[in-house]
Amino acid sequence: MDLIKTKEQIAIMAEGGRRLGAVLNVLRKEVRPGITTLELDRIARLRIEAGGDKPAFLHYRPAGAAKAYPYTLCSSVNDVVVHGQPSHHVLREGDVISLDLGLRHEGLYLDAAITVPVGPVSSLGKDVRALLDATEDALYAGIAAAKPGKRLGDIGYAIERVARNAGLSVAEGLTGHGIGESLHEEPSVFNFGERGTGMVLKEGMVLAIEPMFTLGGGEIVQLRDESYGTEDRSWAAHFEHTIAITAKGPKILTAA
Ligand code: MG
Repeated sequence: MDLIKTKEQIAIMAEGGRRLGAVLNVLRKEVRPGITTLELDRIARLRIEAGGDKPAFLHYRPAGAAKAYPYTLCSSVNDVVVHGQPSHHVLREGDVISLDLGLRHEGLYLDAAITVPVGPVSSLGKDVRALLDATEDALYAGIAAAKPGKRLGDIGYAIERVARNAGLSVAEGLTGHGIGESLHEEPSVFNFGERGTGMVLKEGMVLAIEPMFTLGGGEIVQLRDESYGTEDRSWAAHFEHTIAITAKGPKILTAA
């Protein structure tokens, strides 16, 4: 795997990203009280396959994992941070759900996530609304720092700063990543950091940037279904885009 992608590869990833963003938009509209996360998973799989693409998470086995992942979607509800497995769990008004989805288009991977309210946004507490807003703001702050000549630490710094200013914690031990011919490539993209430190960012790098913030502490624990939840059961949010670093600056590939 090469950290620097060609213009042709980035063009393919832009098309794959457009498709992924469109599927996430469909899912966003399907989220409502009474739906199960398995139903959302089914919709995601059908939509991805209808486009001739492959779900990226289905049958994916991360290094060190006991089993391959059996679903298309990661659906993480409330205090679950990431890797929540779809189930017969019924969503209720006032919940929040992180929809994390990846696909492979013409051999190249894309990865993106949104966290959305179940029911009207007014059904969420003020603190949860602020959590969602700040985590999404942090995604765009991190993306804005992804320019040629900057460093990985600049992205992490920009993300962490938003969490600090909002009184939130960065979920520990979970990071973004390079992406392309594999779902997870070098480098790890930390959600904290120091300006001017780490790998120099270059034109042609493609990164999945994904802040994960919590309302309480940053400690996370692995749950029974191999998902990760907050240790203190505080609620979490997660937003992610796959972006390419171009001479003109960051280009979001997974916007619909
Ligand atoms: Mg990712």
